[in-house]
Amino acid sequence: MTVTDTLGRPVRDLRISVTDRCNFRCVYCMPKEVFGHEYRFLPRRELLTFEEIERVARVFVDLGVKKLRITGGEPLLRRDLELLVAQLSALGDDLDVTLTTNASLLVQKAKALADAGLSRITVSLDSLDDEVFRAMNDVDFPVARVLAGIDAAAEAGLPVKINVVVKRGLNEASVLDIARRFRGTGHAVRFIEFMDVGATNGWRLDDVVPAAEIVATIGAEFPLEPVEAAYRGEVAERYRYRDGAGEIGVIASVTQPFCGDCTRARISADGKLYTCLFAVRGHDLRALLRSGSADTLEETIRAVWTRRADRYSEIRTEETSALRKVEMSYIGG
Ligand code: SAM
Repeated sequence: MTVTDTLGRPVRDLRISVTDRCNFRCVYCMPKEVFGHEYRFLPRRELLTFEEIERVARVFVDLGVKKLRITGGEPLLRRDLELLVAQLSALGDDLDVTLTTNASLLVQKAKALADAGLSRITVSLDSLDDEVFRAMNDVDFPVARVLAGIDAAAEAGLPVKINVVVKRGLNEASVLDIARRFRGTGHAVRFIEFMDVGATNGWRLDDVVPAAEIVATIGAEFPLEPVEAAYRGEVAERYRYRDGAGEIGVIASVTQPFCGDCTRARISADGKLYTCLFAVRGHDLRALLRSGSADTLEETIRAVWTRRADRYSEIRTEETSALRKVEMSYIGG
């Protein structure tokens, strides 16, 4: 049974945050000044268990979800994550179960994740320049270990995507390096405009490198041509190298918002349902999970989605960017 919101959008993707903790302190996501020693992360008992996550995911699959993405925080910090992957993969034969990770633990985990049924993996990598990368993750993590994680995932048979957030003045120079490095490898790269998620990353419109500029930079060295969207709600605008060396994508959520096609729901690590990445409030499913029946859960999710009217990126201004929105590390990227 499918469900649509007030703008006629179905729910097709569920992003599940399994932890609000991360071992990186990326300056644009979890700045150290905010997420320092005193920061209070969620206590363990407040996190949804794997069984609770499975119950929620099952309802979403019944409502039409085709893709489950596990995220965080850093999802590989959650112990035995492959068990959750196996539980989620079992929810449907043609279900896409994916994971977004910083790859710091991927060398150890790639095979177990692939064996558990993970469909593919997205690795975040903002620079190949070791100095720039260490400064961006702000915990001095070497880029070589992320590259080893990518290789381990590919060896385990997982299709790999690379996510690159581009921030003006920080890693613009890395755009071409990354395009050069991954051309011809089969790993699709997605360049993402720096967004005003949360309220702590000091976002300014001037920090955004427009997707059109990224495409022009890469296209000047390696001619590109646009690729038709594969399905409604695809977030990346895709381009292929004219010489056949693969493709890149850009996610222009600031300069060309795509709310009209947004089919994503998000569950925070403590079980709140958010219908927009830029939401201020979520709907508490954990209370229901711990007290109510499966029927109540489905009715509630259906009711929340039916009322959904979010289109934040289409109405974004410098003023809305200052709202007290939830943090990306909590809601899940
Ligand atoms: N820890 C995992 C990782 O590094 O991929 C998963 C969570 S992380 C929040 C998910 C993605 O969100 C990463 O690719 C990250 O670069 C991206 N991200 C975080 N803050 C962002 C922002 N302000 N604008 C755009 N992307 C952002």
